[in-house]
Amino acid sequence: MSSPPAVGPLVPETFATRVVETRMLGPRVRHLVFERADAAPFVFEPGQWVQLIFPFKDEKGLAVRRSYSIASPPDGSPRFELAVTKVDDGPGSTFLHEAPVGAPLDVKGPAGTFTRALDPATPALFIATGTGVAPFRSMIRHALAKGRAEPLWLLFGVRSHEELLYGDELRALAAAHPCFRLEPSFSRPSDEWRGRTGYVQTHVKALWQELTAQHPLAHAYICGVKKMLMASREVLRVELGVDRKRVHLEAYD
Ligand SMILES: Cc1cc2nc3c(=O)[nH]c(=O)nc-3n(C[C@H](O)[C@H](O)[C@H](O)COP(=O)(O)OP(=O)(O)OC[C@H]3O[C@@H](n4cnc5c(N)ncnc54)[C@H](O)[C@@H]3O)c2cc1C
Repeated sequence: MSSPPAVGPLVPETFATRVVETRMLGPRVRHLVFERADAAPFVFEPGQWVQLIFPFKDEKGLAVRRSYSIASPPDGSPRFELAVTKVDDGPGSTFLHEAPVGAPLDVKGPAGTFTRALDPATPALFIATGTGVAPFRSMIRHALAKGRAEPLWLLFGVRSHEELLYGDELRALAAAHPCFRLEPSFSRPSDEWRGRTGYVQTHVKALWQELTAQHPLAHAYICGVKKMLMASREVLRVELGVDRKRVHLEAYD
């Protein structure tokens, strides 16, 4: 259920960070770990985002800013993680794909109300494409770390098997926690793949019906680019008549 953050500053603060680790998650997605320069704990709610303030200006002479969902769960440390898709000719994502370890960057945050309260323990269907999985990685790891056992199902659409971001980690979580179910869908699957294929929105109805048959009060969380977001929302709201209070959206574009 969306709710304002229970902890953390009411007004997002601006603070200095450094990139401390990076790795590629797939051909076009880079995982970056940031650390606050003041070493203070970074307090946020799973599902929130930060705004990065880049060291270059737009045509109006203002610093370029872009928002990114926090991909890691809060752990009381000064660190947080982002997953960034490389957008062709996009200044923000190109900078983040080229930033070396040690690069300084100002950050404003946390912000956003696309959060999921742990109390009450509401079953959830998470629907993502690409880096839309970032806030769900935070929510799912946070809930599992707190010992939660309500159903947490992730319908995750990507092009190919090598683009299943955090794939090994998500599969390991699913193996260790029966309440967490990973449902990947590939638009360009391998010949051997016998699972879901194509657009995620084509799988929303069946998964939602299966989940709500046992858990009628489940909520749906959808994150990614608007085209997928709207198509998935349409299935839930129009085709299945799900109350809008139970469908939560975060658009990247
Ligand atoms: C709340 C919020 C959270 C976000 N979280 C993330 C995140 O966790 N990871 C992330 O990679 N991006 C995220 N974005 C998108 C991000 O803010 C930038 O828009 C993106 O990095 C492109 O910026 P740019 O300067 O490189 O390109 P721009 O020149 O600003 O190009 C923008 C174009 O990129 C497209 N675009 C934006 N995001 C994506 C994407 N993920 N995949 C494909 N096309 C995209 C838009 O449709 C638009 O046409 C988020 C956006 C919002 C509003």
